[in-house]
Amino acid sequence: MVVVLERDIRDAQKKQIRSFLENHGFKVREIVGVEETIFGAVGSSPIDIREVEVLPGVDKVVPITKPYKLASRELKKDDTVVQVGPVRFGGPRLTVIAGPCAVESREQILEVARIIRKSGAVMLRGGAFKPRTSPYSFQGLGEEGLRYLKEAGEATGMPVISEVVSPSHVGMMREYVDVFQIGARNMQNFELLKEVGATGMPVMVKRGLAATIEEWLMAAEYVLAHGTEDVILCDRGIRTFETYTRNSLDISSIPVVKKLSHLPVVVDPSHATGIRDKVPPVALAAAAVGADGIIVEVHTDPELAMSDGPQTLYPAQFEKLMRDLEAMTPVLGRELVRLPDRADARPVFGGGAGAAESSKTEALKVAFQGARGAYSETALLRYFQANDVHAEPKDAFRDVFEAVLQGTVEYGVIPLENSLAGSVHENYDLLLSYPDVTILAETQIRVQHCLIGPESASTESVRTVYSHPQGLAQCRQFLEDHGIKALPHYDTAGSVELVAEKSDPSVAAIASREAAAMYGMKVLREGIETNPHNYTRFAIVGHRDHPPVDNPNMAALVLATPDSPGALAVCLKVLAERDLNLKKLESRPIPGKPWNYMFYLDVQIPEDAAQFEAGMKALGEVSEDLRTLGVYRL
Ligand code: PEP
Ligand code: MN
Repeated sequence: MVVVLERDIRDAQKKQIRSFLENHGFKVREIVGVEETIFGAVGSSPIDIREVEVLPGVDKVVPITKPYKLASRELKKDDTVVQVGPVRFGGPRLTVIAGPCAVESREQILEVARIIRKSGAVMLRGGAFKPRTSPYSFQGLGEEGLRYLKEAGEATGMPVISEVVSPSHVGMMREYVDVFQIGARNMQNFELLKEVGATGMPVMVKRGLAATIEEWLMAAEYVLAHGTEDVILCDRGIRTFETYTRNSLDISSIPVVKKLSHLPVVVDPSHATGIRDKVPPVALAAAAVGADGIIVEVHTDPELAMSDGPQTLYPAQFEKLMRDLEAMTPVLGRELVRLPDRADARPVFGGGAGAAESSKTEALKVAFQGARGAYSETALLRYFQANDVHAEPKDAFRDVFEAVLQGTVEYGVIPLENSLAGSVHENYDLLLSYPDVTILAETQIRVQHCLIGPESASTESVRTVYSHPQGLAQCRQFLEDHGIKALPHYDTAGSVELVAEKSDPSVAAIASREAAAMYGMKVLREGIETNPHNYTRFAIVGHRDHPPVDNPNMAALVLATPDSPGALAVCLKVLAERDLNLKKLESRPIPGKPWNYMFYLDVQIPEDAAQFEAGMKALGEVSEDLRTLGVYRL
């Protein structure tokens, strides 16, 4: 049962409730959610829930109707986030695990680990005990294989996952693996589930070859009931009458399970299809239906793989898959999980020499403009999802710059451009007037507007709506069709706060789903923007003293030209002659100089950095003023 506690419950009352339940044979787990704190009480003893309901400090008691209790959404409304070292599963993340089917040698696993890490995988897989159909097939290297796996994980900074096939191996394996994998064939090996659960370590439970969704969740329940709270589900296809593919991926299981359970769900397209070329499209489909992660088999030489070669990706295929996933994630409202220290990627957030040392233990402070739940906060939380982050709301964009300059926050997240409304000029102007604040990275989100109102409201009951003028403009068609009057407000999330205070079914707001959740409001309609191709590009800004970004590939510049015929053409010619690709060019009036303009440019930095340096030098010579707003990696 779910025992919902009163908001202002005292510690003594909490203790009383807990011991009452424990004395009645229940196992009690406290779950602190966004909106409420509950006790999940699981046990087999019969009890009249009214006895619990009358205890002081209890708000209400809700029985869990499903046979799986700890795994159930009824118990826990918020998504569970499973943390494995620096890697997280669940919430708005997409986490990619890759590696060979089996560890074959030290050299093999080290090489594969290096390659997949470079492409963006964040966890390494590799079987050491292989449950093979034939006793004559390669059975895995056993403990020796686990040793190599662990070494490869440590060498590349990735946690590792490997399958456990026997309860007697659990004690030995826990020294080597970060996540235990329960294979499809062992999904109902209950003694194994109990033993693994009792370690308290993260466990990935694969769906059995012929398991129903309920049986699969019951297997997860076994693991949860024996001690661990960190269970990841994995669908790897089931046996059907179809023989073309190795198994049939039950793709609808993902949205189904995400509704039934709070646990993260990953998909294994390798075992699901058994055919290499089918793996990438199915992986993309899995991401599209809401999988929290992908686990794929990759080998430097799949032809020579000792197991599952035909379904194993070549490194180049995996690299392409990662790029495709990266391109898809903004549309899905997700962010690919990255390792914070990936040397060839984005800045070292949360620990670089320039960042405060304290950030290793304390949450990373990052500022954004707007009220809680603003789109900027969504972008911030997604970008920094690998870090423990504290998002600080600021009233104005200038306050974000000031906070970065003063060092009261380490980074700021500011919108630069919307795909429909164009540039956010204020921020470009601020970048110019704060030369010590620089762009370190970029991220983008898809903007999906929701009509948000109180519980009692419906789309039909709404007569007026508040939002930022841009939010209103972007939903004009919907508002017209429904005869809703638009009233401007200073920001989108702030309008939700206002509507929450009014609590009137005829008054609604337009903002994000996150903003609705933040203020406990109802999403009346989602995706009401006229044009669904609505993206906002954000810059992650930091102090100029921050260590430079490794291998930058983009520069944001601003230049003023002499007031003479063809001056801009001369500047652009400099770029063209040096083969420098211009990605954006925009003119802006120079403050205080009517009818004089400066130009904002985004220029791609080629592999050969010297070519770019030479270009900048030449550009400096032909322009009146040239400044760099940031050099970063896209
Ligand atoms: C594996 O992941 O290598 C494996 C054997 O998978 P499954 O248990 O899903 O068949
Ligand atoms: Mn395999």
